[in-house]
Amino acid sequence: SPPRPPAEDISPRDVFIAVKTTKKFHKARLELLLDTWISRNRDMTFIFTDGEDEELKKQARNVINTNCSAAHSRQALSCKMAVEYDKFIESGRKWFCHVDDDNYVNVRMLVKLLSSYPHTQDIYIGKPSLDRPIQATERISENKMHPVHFWFATGGAGFCISRGLGAHIPWALGGHFMSTAEKIRLPDDCTIGYIIESVLGVKLIRSNLFHSHLENLHQVPKSEIHKQVTLSYGMFENKRNSIHMKGAFSVEEDPSRFRSVHCLLYPDTPWCPTNMVY
Ligand code: UDP
Ligand code: MN
Repeated sequence: SPPRPPAEDISPRDVFIAVKTTKKFHKARLELLLDTWISRNRDMTFIFTDGEDEELKKQARNVINTNCSAAHSRQALSCKMAVEYDKFIESGRKWFCHVDDDNYVNVRMLVKLLSSYPHTQDIYIGKPSLDRPIQATERISENKMHPVHFWFATGGAGFCISRGLGAHIPWALGGHFMSTAEKIRLPDDCTIGYIIESVLGVKLIRSNLFHSHLENLHQVPKSEIHKQVTLSYGMFENKRNSIHMKGAFSVEEDPSRFRSVHCLLYPDTPWCPTNMVY
């Protein structure tokens, strides 16, 4: 799609980025993010976790213990999503973005993308995880079911919601995020898609600038890395999956490639080599 003219002048301070994590990943995953993209964007980043960690609180500005269960259950994850949403509303910011703890956020590009849309309108933007709408069953009552289909943005690639749209969500819920999630019995990111597309009738705006490890990350060309909004790393079809780039660090030193990406985007970082030609 052609570049869109800016609709609005926004700054990083207008964006609320929720990072979903869990206690067992504080060391294994979050430290990498704190060393890289979060270090440059402390005021816009809010870490949602499920266990107390004094060390983490020293390193990060906004840490929220959701008191949700640390299980990887549907209920525990939608509990976290509900807390993320409540904190966003409380913050008064213009945009809500959700990412996982295996995402790199290129904040400059995120702000650029969001500034091409008015935050007062209904905007839901991200990358669909399937190539067709998901088919699901809505439970209307104990024995009444209703088929629905809708698109949703995959949580593992990150997605954003404007304040204008966010303001309509409580109405759509008619109760709680968690009870809505139970009605549809799907993961938290699908529940968001259900609320926005099926209940509110607002369409997902697709962006190819968001990336999860459920796609082949080798396909992001090196010359385009700096233009992406989110990146990821992890497993895909039983193989290690990450951005493919020669960079400041070897694959052994930097398996996620996030440190190398960070040096590409912020070459003045003290731990980045000074003699690199990118
Ligand atoms: N996660 C969580 N609780 C858990 C397990 C995972 O909140 O018990 C979070 C995790 O920190 C990450 C997201 O859920 O932000 C997705 O987890 P993961 O990347 O391990 O799974 P996948 O990407 O394969 O769905
Ligand atoms: Mn993941």
